[in-house]
Amino acid sequence: MATEPRIIKFFETTLRDGEQTPGVNYFPEEKLAIAQALADMGFDTLDCGFAASSPAEMECIRLIASKVRNAEICSIARTHAADIERAWEAVKDAEYPVIHPFVSTSPLHRQVKLGKTRDEVREMARVAVAQARGYTENVDFALEDSTRTEHDFILEVCEAVLEEGVRFIAICDTVGFALPWEFGKLVADVKREFPQARISAHCHDDLGQAVANALEGLRNGAERVDTCINGLGERAGNAATEDVVMAIRTRTTDLGLDVRVDTTGIVPVSRLVAKLSGMQPQWTKSVVGANAFAHGGGIHQDGVLKDARTYEIMTPESIGLTAADRRMHMGKLSGRAALGAQMRELGYELEKEQLNRAFDMAKLLLGKKKVLEELDMRYIAETAVGRTEVTMVSVETIIASAETPGS
Ligand code: MN
Repeated sequence: MATEPRIIKFFETTLRDGEQTPGVNYFPEEKLAIAQALADMGFDTLDCGFAASSPAEMECIRLIASKVRNAEICSIARTHAADIERAWEAVKDAEYPVIHPFVSTSPLHRQVKLGKTRDEVREMARVAVAQARGYTENVDFALEDSTRTEHDFILEVCEAVLEEGVRFIAICDTVGFALPWEFGKLVADVKREFPQARISAHCHDDLGQAVANALEGLRNGAERVDTCINGLGERAGNAATEDVVMAIRTRTTDLGLDVRVDTTGIVPVSRLVAKLSGMQPQWTKSVVGANAFAHGGGIHQDGVLKDARTYEIMTPESIGLTAADRRMHMGKLSGRAALGAQMRELGYELEKEQLNRAFDMAKLLLGKKKVLEELDMRYIAETAVGRTEVTMVSVETIIASAETPGS
């Protein structure tokens, strides 16, 4: 009998690490709208910001804490006493408040950023968690730059924060340096030493490994994952929420993991974040890119038109799109099946010979023009069915005019 998949939790940080994306600046009501959308999808903890960074940020987190009742509301904090006090001030009216202090643990960060010894850093972590625990039981702690930290020191810091009653410990690939098996092993090592520790995987995408690292962390015992919608975040971004959700949902049996979020909210929230952040996902972005359900090659198009499962591993419906959002791109490499389907959408039912003629014309035109627009397609169709006087010569005339400089 198959065992039940383990449900993983999310530390959704679109509103915090995601807002650290260079170029992103949300207004408070925008952060509130994103927070509510994420909460309604079922994400567990919303990392809403860094309360101590400014009075405006503090007010914004307070606003979210007072309005969004169906998710945990979190503020991060340095280990400074004043930061932790402000974080609590920001989240204390939430239904489920969370304080999340962090400290850099790697030798480079200890030396260059903090000017502290290992013992000092460990005690900063301990004292911060103890102080935060004075306000709430929901205290999570992040070891910044974990993946470049000495192995024994990670265990030392984990032990200290566990002694003070920390809830989740975030193991962080802050700089996106880890490879998947290394990150998995790091999580497994911490779990082996401290089976009672609950781990959150915080992974950046500098080498394009964020989602793979996060999945390896989860497979090796992490209970939670830190993610951003559309893969936003510092530099190359964080593990994308939609990628982690759909990877787990699509491969749940093989991973032995599942998620408890409403996946049909993915595209709506991705579009909301794209609009409010001003950052559109690249066309080929996994899950939410404009091309995620678009097909360009003739063999692929023919397959998808017969049965979409030939080239799609998720349905558009599962992420909040419809079958109508599936797209057959008429390009240089496209096939007759896709052209016929597109012509039908424009209202032309072409017979075999007409379709062959239209196909030849389309290919000829695409030798000179990057994309066929609707007008081109209508012109080709009208010509193919013989409703106009124009012939192939006329298509060549269009080509000639397209080549005229300035046209
Ligand atoms: Mn980060």
